[in-house]
Amino acid sequence: MALSATQEAIRETVREFAVEEIRPTLRECDREERFPEEVWNGLADLDLTGLTTPGSYGGFDADRVTYAVVNEEVAYGSLSVATALSVHCLATSCIAEFGDGDLREAWLPELVEGRPVGAFALSEPDAGSNPAEMSTTATRDGDKWVLDGTKQWITNGARAGVVVVFAKAEEADAEPPTRGGGSVTQFLVPADAEGLSVGDPEEKLGLRASDTVSLTFDGVRVPDRHRLTEPGRGLAAALSILNGGRVGIAAQAVGLGQAALDEALEYAAEREQFDRPIGEFQSIRHTLAEMHTQVEAGRLLT
Ligand SMILES: Cc1cc2nc3c(=O)[nH]c(=O)nc-3n(C[C@H](O)[C@H](O)[C@H](O)COP(=O)(O)OP(=O)(O)OC[C@H]3O[C@@H](n4cnc5c(N)ncnc54)[C@H](O)[C@@H]3O)c2cc1C
Repeated sequence: MALSATQEAIRETVREFAVEEIRPTLRECDREERFPEEVWNGLADLDLTGLTTPGSYGGFDADRVTYAVVNEEVAYGSLSVATALSVHCLATSCIAEFGDGDLREAWLPELVEGRPVGAFALSEPDAGSNPAEMSTTATRDGDKWVLDGTKQWITNGARAGVVVVFAKAEEADAEPPTRGGGSVTQFLVPADAEGLSVGDPEEKLGLRASDTVSLTFDGVRVPDRHRLTEPGRGLAAALSILNGGRVGIAAQAVGLGQAALDEALEYAAEREQFDRPIGEFQSIRHTLAEMHTQVEAGRLLT
């Protein structure tokens, strides 16, 4: 598959940024479990924090292939940064796709600029692969909704200024919450809303520079105008936005694979045994060729 000249130029620009600006932060941020905010500002300068936002709100409005290319190249620099970017894009996509004109006007131009950062809060301790079993509730109170529950593994959760959160719309006297995803809806919640608290960072084996926390909603009051979908439409909305995002996750895996291959190639050329670079031994060349084939196949599948 051939990229257009524009897509090639975007790939080159993002690769250069990944190598020169993202990579140098990688080890230290990973060790310290710290997100490189200076890199985020650089992504914003490249307009990438508006990657999936329509041009009418200042966004990049990338097509699917460009979206994949950008995710691949950012992940080439750091998977943690790519994860943060793709989740920010989930949040902006929800607002762009489901928000009304006022909400879009109020939030998208700033999200495109990279601040505030967006988060997407669907998963819960007991509802991961099956979000229909979520227990976070939204109870109607006049022209407001009251959110109660805990979301888990939320990327950008501590950094975010705005959270798109999914909850089951409940009647005031419903106990326990209804089963299944039939009443799920989604809300835009500013991160400084009263009653919203951020849990301790998850201690992860990988993606350590990515901010992953729980978010607890304890009587968080949200105006009805912050509701993004009708009750019952939230789960389908989440899954449709996630489907777009999955392409990005696949592309990130390709970028990571390419980075590993390039490191291996460099080492095979530099490391010498028996008076020559190990890359001259056939068994090493077979391994590198196999790696190249797998990465290329992954790229084409994406
Ligand atoms: C680093 C990180 C960042 C994340 N960021 C976010 C975020 O920003 N927002 C958010 O909402 N969530 C986020 N998540 C949560 C993520 O979406 C969930 O981890 C995911 O949905 C899987 O849920 P689980 O971990 O509870 O696994 P489980 O649902 O408990 O699944 C455990 C295993 O069983 C398998 N399994 C489950 N059901 C089936 C089935 N029907 N058939 C076959 N196999 C099955 C799964 O594939 C998995 O291997 C994040 C997770 C991680 C690790």
